[in-house]
Amino acid sequence: MDGTIKPDVVIVGSGVGGGAVARQLAGSGAKVLILERGDFLPNEPENSDAEAVFVQARYRTREEYQDESGRRYRPGQYYYVGGHTKFYGTAMFRFRESDFRDVAHEDGTSPAWPFSYAELEPWYDAAERLFGVHGQAGEDPAEPPRSAGYAHAAVPHEPIIADMVDRLKGQGLRPFSMPSAVDFGPGGSCRRCGTCDAFACRYGAKGDGETRLIRPILAHPDVTLWTNAQVTRLIPASDGRITAVEVVRDGQTLRVEAPLFVLSAGAINSALVLLRSASESNPEGLANRSGVVGRYLMNHHLTGLMGLMPFRVNDTKFPKTLSVNDFYHGLPGDAAARGNMQMLGNIQGPMIRSTYSWMPRALANLLGRHSVDWLCMSEDLPRAESRVRLLRGDRVEIAYHPGDVAAHDRFVRHVRAQLRNIFPVVLRHSFGIEAPSHQCGTVRMGDDPARSALDALCQSHDHRNLYVVDASFFPSSAALNPALTVCAQALRVGAHLRDAWRNGTFAA
Ligand SMILES: Cc1cc2nc3c(=O)[nH]c(=O)nc-3n(C[C@H](O)[C@H](O)[C@H](O)COP(=O)(O)OP(=O)(O)OC[C@H]3O[C@@H](n4cnc5c(N)ncnc54)[C@H](O)[C@@H]3O)c2cc1C
Ligand code: SF4
Repeated sequence: MDGTIKPDVVIVGSGVGGGAVARQLAGSGAKVLILERGDFLPNEPENSDAEAVFVQARYRTREEYQDESGRRYRPGQYYYVGGHTKFYGTAMFRFRESDFRDVAHEDGTSPAWPFSYAELEPWYDAAERLFGVHGQAGEDPAEPPRSAGYAHAAVPHEPIIADMVDRLKGQGLRPFSMPSAVDFGPGGSCRRCGTCDAFACRYGAKGDGETRLIRPILAHPDVTLWTNAQVTRLIPASDGRITAVEVVRDGQTLRVEAPLFVLSAGAINSALVLLRSASESNPEGLANRSGVVGRYLMNHHLTGLMGLMPFRVNDTKFPKTLSVNDFYHGLPGDAAARGNMQMLGNIQGPMIRSTYSWMPRALANLLGRHSVDWLCMSEDLPRAESRVRLLRGDRVEIAYHPGDVAAHDRFVRHVRAQLRNIFPVVLRHSFGIEAPSHQCGTVRMGDDPARSALDALCQSHDHRNLYVVDASFFPSSAALNPALTVCAQALRVGAHLRDAWRNGTFAA
């Protein structure tokens, strides 16, 4: 397709959103061109070296963002084929039925989605199968209805995690096997290597956007992937249709025309591409007559808790097998304080020092070896003032004003008190927007074009041949990991586009 053949659809970004749409279109007859700003992540020893990944930030983007005070930082953004799932922790959760409805919170309302859980359920099932998710249906007390069980048995707990299960049960909780996309078990390629969450897999065993979505379709004659191809803007015609993208590939600026465009650059970058596409006829950027593009940025309240075992080394290799949802709809007597609790990947000394640089190496390593690491996750509320902005000179500002901070704090204090029944010391650490790992909401869906950018199928209200399919479409963030929901909706949108291609209404 390179240079001569015109694609039928251009997909910007090869993460979960873009990859799942591409996977649905592959084989339909439509010529698909995927433009990815990054390259394939090299398989090298540094993939699993905490010093390289955290202290040297080897794989993180070199670009800088700034906050509202002008403080600049290098964000935790990763640009590779497969997107952020190259580094993700493989927790593949479905959102709950209530997450798709209006829910009152202490600081405001978490808005409804333009469709129900029931409408997305078949696509959750398809996404789990595609990613090879391991799990055990029926254990999670907050589990939504499922049309089928998991195709793969839950990853078994290692001894220390099994011990945690028993101790939490002893406190009246109902821990369950965390759904996880790793190729573990007889004949599987997962070696329980010891570095998974926040690291790349050297064995192709992590179910990620590259292994599960992009690689399987690359041999297809109608699918072309351009790596090192960064889209700078979309170009509209006077009738509102998008006619082309401007892309910088290997230092050269090119224009690629197509009848249909799918923007899947991730929540922050999709908003930036739309804002950067501002022109005289669209001064606020594209798909933005509602003014919502870039706004309503959410990232979850994420607090890490390290339970220290002074006399025992934590030799667990793959800890992310346990989760607790007893408080998903609220603490006893405090319904506003709520969230999910799950194991975090192993924290190692260099990870601690990358945040607390004053800490002596020996102490950080000791803490890493003797800790069992947990993550408390609460819903972040969409607020118009939390936003991605493009400043003069193409500088990027992230203004972040999370909602429900006090309720999350009460949730964390409750969980910490429970963990103190197990560990003599429980240390606390919050993850900020500098690591926008669960970024979402910046190009929100909705039924009302005055208050949303996309309809229920992620089609732009303003430009009918533009779809935005990545975590930016989330109207609310729920309190669970986002990747499976991005994939489910992207598969749904991809199936819609495939049908449209077959019945001749593609890009109509
Ligand atoms: C350390 C870490 C751990 C995580 N753990 C979990 C977990 O356990 N479970 C879970 O559900 N989620 C987890 N997440 C979040 C999850 O990875 C994301 O929600 C998900 O990958 C988002 O997919 P996406 O398609 O929205 O965007 P992305 O993954 O960001 O994909 C966007 C793609 O577009 C490319 N791109 C960006 N800009 C441009 C441009 N201008 N032109 C061309 N290409 C562009 C990017 O390089 C990227 O490949 C984790 C994230 C991180 C960082
Ligand atoms: S634990 Fe398994 S899936 Fe995760 S990085 Fe190691 S080998 Fe890969």
